[in-house]
Amino acid sequence: MRKFLSLCVVALISSASIIGQNVNKVYIPERIGEVRQEIVIPNIGDYQVLKCDFHIHTVFSDGDVWPTYRVQEAWRDGLDVISITDHIEYLPHKKYVKGDFNTPYELAKPQADKYGLMLVRGTEITRKQGVIGHFNALFIEDANAIPDDDPFVAVQNARKQNAFVLFNHPGWAVDTCLVTEFQQRLFDADMIDGIEVVNHMEYYPRVVSWCIDKKLPMFANSDEHGIISEDYTTCFRPMTLVLVEENSQNGVKEALLVGRSIAYTDNKFMSTEDLLLDLFEACVDIKMIQHSDKKNVYSCTNKSSFPFVISVNGGGKKVIPPFSTIHFSASNKKNLEITILNMWCYEDEHPVLKID
Ligand SMILES: [Zn+2]
Ligand SMILES: [Zn+2]
Repeated sequence: MRKFLSLCVVALISSASIIGQNVNKVYIPERIGEVRQEIVIPNIGDYQVLKCDFHIHTVFSDGDVWPTYRVQEAWRDGLDVISITDHIEYLPHKKYVKGDFNTPYELAKPQADKYGLMLVRGTEITRKQGVIGHFNALFIEDANAIPDDDPFVAVQNARKQNAFVLFNHPGWAVDTCLVTEFQQRLFDADMIDGIEVVNHMEYYPRVVSWCIDKKLPMFANSDEHGIISEDYTTCFRPMTLVLVEENSQNGVKEALLVGRSIAYTDNKFMSTEDLLLDLFEACVDIKMIQHSDKKNVYSCTNKSSFPFVISVNGGGKKVIPPFSTIHFSASNKKNLEITILNMWCYEDEHPVLKID
């Protein structure tokens, strides 16, 4: 009955508004407006976790969209920080799209300010993959001052602007992840600050081990050229989670330079064991709710937007869905050991949480 009355009220309001309308122009239906998907990650101690994508393209290189679209898209996807990193050396739309290497940033910046999204100025130094490779220069001041015929000098030009240099997609378009002579030269000169372990639809497990061995932060970026929503339908887009003390460009850069990042794609997380355990413990509360002579029963509450997959004391897989609680029991004869199976802290190693 209440439903019927509500329907009548809606019908009356609708007909009243139609009466007041111009009969030659009817608006259908009302536009909801833009909606942002909120991705919930609790703070990790004093750190706020920012959701970032440091590798995206527009029509100013070989992408399909205008720079302002990238801002709106990232805001709708729940991101906090992006960098538009159009190629310097590959400009297939040049005949139709005028501008210089700073133009994508300059077009996107007012939109980013309006939406409250942090926009990091960046560009992609783009040389032959498998020989030289691609490198994103992030936090730069002037992309026009970076190009040079010599790729080493181009990276040096970025460094002169205090750029953070990212080694992009080590496994893309090659059979296996190998460090080339040129890339080794950059590592030896301390000119690589981070590496993509995830690029677009690719994940490079071996590169997780490189980052751990070289003590470099891990990145997961979309390298999107088309439309994000057409590529990721069952999970969030790839994101680099950055643990910041201060929500500012300096705060993000400072966090990256000391390695406080976690790469995310397809409900998988990659980073150091410490950071992964910090993230897990910030997201999941584990409480003993029943104690007996032989076993204890625990409740496990996930306060985040991500699912976690665990194994308790080497047992079978258990999924803790987002914003949900599960129960599990474990022998009380030994300490609790929780292996987090959708996190990787080396090529084939998962972090293990030990609870006394
Ligand atoms: Zn590239
Ligand atoms: Zn790219």
